[in-house]
Amino acid sequence: MIKADTFSGRTVAVFGLGRTGVTAALSLVAGGATVWAWDDNSDTRDRANKQGVPLQDLKKADWSKVNEFVLSPGVPHYLPSVHWSAKAAQDAGVPIICDIEILAREVAAKPEHERPKIIAITGTNGKSTTTSLVGHILRTCGKDAQIGGNIGRGVLDLNSMHSGTYYVIELSSYQLERTQSLRANAAIFLNLSPDHLDRHGTLEGYGKAKQAVFANQTQGDTVVIGVDDTYGKALCSQLKVRNGRRIVPISVRRASGHGVSVLGGKLFCNMSKKSIEVCDLRKAKALEGKHNWQNAAAAYAAVSSFDLDSKEIGEAILSFPGLAHRMETVGTLRNVRFVNDSKATNADAARQALASYENIFWIAGGVPKEGGIEPLRDLFGNVRSAYLIGDAANDFGQTLGVAECPYQNKSTLKMALLCATKDALESGVKDPIVLLSPACASFDQFKNFEVRGDAFRSQVHTLMGIDETGDAKTSVHGSVA
Ligand code: ADP
Repeated sequence: MIKADTFSGRTVAVFGLGRTGVTAALSLVAGGATVWAWDDNSDTRDRANKQGVPLQDLKKADWSKVNEFVLSPGVPHYLPSVHWSAKAAQDAGVPIICDIEILAREVAAKPEHERPKIIAITGTNGKSTTTSLVGHILRTCGKDAQIGGNIGRGVLDLNSMHSGTYYVIELSSYQLERTQSLRANAAIFLNLSPDHLDRHGTLEGYGKAKQAVFANQTQGDTVVIGVDDTYGKALCSQLKVRNGRRIVPISVRRASGHGVSVLGGKLFCNMSKKSIEVCDLRKAKALEGKHNWQNAAAAYAAVSSFDLDSKEIGEAILSFPGLAHRMETVGTLRNVRFVNDSKATNADAARQALASYENIFWIAGGVPKEGGIEPLRDLFGNVRSAYLIGDAANDFGQTLGVAECPYQNKSTLKMALLCATKDALESGVKDPIVLLSPACASFDQFKNFEVRGDAFRSQVHTLMGIDETGDAKTSVHGSVA
């Protein structure tokens, strides 16, 4: 655990006693702060208290005595409505922060030569994959890399820092809007598309929150920006004129001058005068699809700022085992491959898998999002047949029917898998894929997307004659974009 020494002698209120809230409270206590912690749920409070978190009813607290307020990133302080605790803090003029800010202050308090390196990753999609890939590359190249933030462990739960530590941190917009002091040696802004607008109001507001990933960077630091969407492209030119940092544009659409690009599946670095071919991403089994090539380009651009050998980085990219539930191959039966993309909880995410394969036997459904699968119509040509489950089955069936794409309502995942497997085996098409990419939330039939993906994996493994892929996957839950 990282002790919050910079908060010694201060009074800090903490609201939201989930995993990161508890860690933050314990880190503050260990650092010598007076902690007043609270949660609206009494069971959660009791659990935290048993772990050593001091409780204080913040509804009755004297906020004039509070120096900082650590508010769980999931609790709104502005839109869609202000939580009562945030209102109390705002009325008393108490700054609202999160655990990332505590880490940032601890790092800043160290003399420059003792500071760890920080690689911060944000964007609407691909954060967890890129964060894990950066961590994998650094470890493969012999560095002490630790992954945390919006993925896996909370940042204050990471091992204590030394000058050779690399903290690889996934950051959501919710965390970034409560972080003021972070200085990332390398910061990645992958992409931006409309999401979480209930919290940020507009795309501009959402993008602005994410731009905080670049705050406090100075000369010598690296900015990595995906320039394939209009927001990233504009942001890249704005930052160029504003600051002398090293700016690395990344693209999977065109050769980017002084940047990193993927052309015909090959990863090229054009940062110096001579273009270097880093690796052939078509050989990276766990990074299928152009979206993953964007993640690989970003990871390369970030780690190459730490004087690593590009050949070694290329080899590490190819050996990345991938993340569970994101286009994860879970087995093969004769020529049929089974792919678990349970993390695709909306149409946008499912788009990536549907665009990456031809001859898909597609299992979709669950609790639909607004618009259903209507935005995916242009990709129905890759779908041989669809197998629909859960609440969305009727609506999705209508959309597919109008588009003349074959489909069957199967209600359960198990039935859908059996029918899809039978059809795929008998289809005679080249490289058939049985794909679970639901384009829906899971909670009508499963606790979360991970439980749904695990069920798919184990049902595939139960089918007779499956050759399992031996690779162990890292199961990590990235929470917010
Ligand atoms: P996040 O942590 O931002 O949610 P993940 O790495 O967990 O992202 O990937 C979640 C889903 O988002 C994947 O299953 C894939 O469909 C999609 N995705 C991943 N990377 C990208 C990208 N660079 N651009 C667009 N979509 C992506």
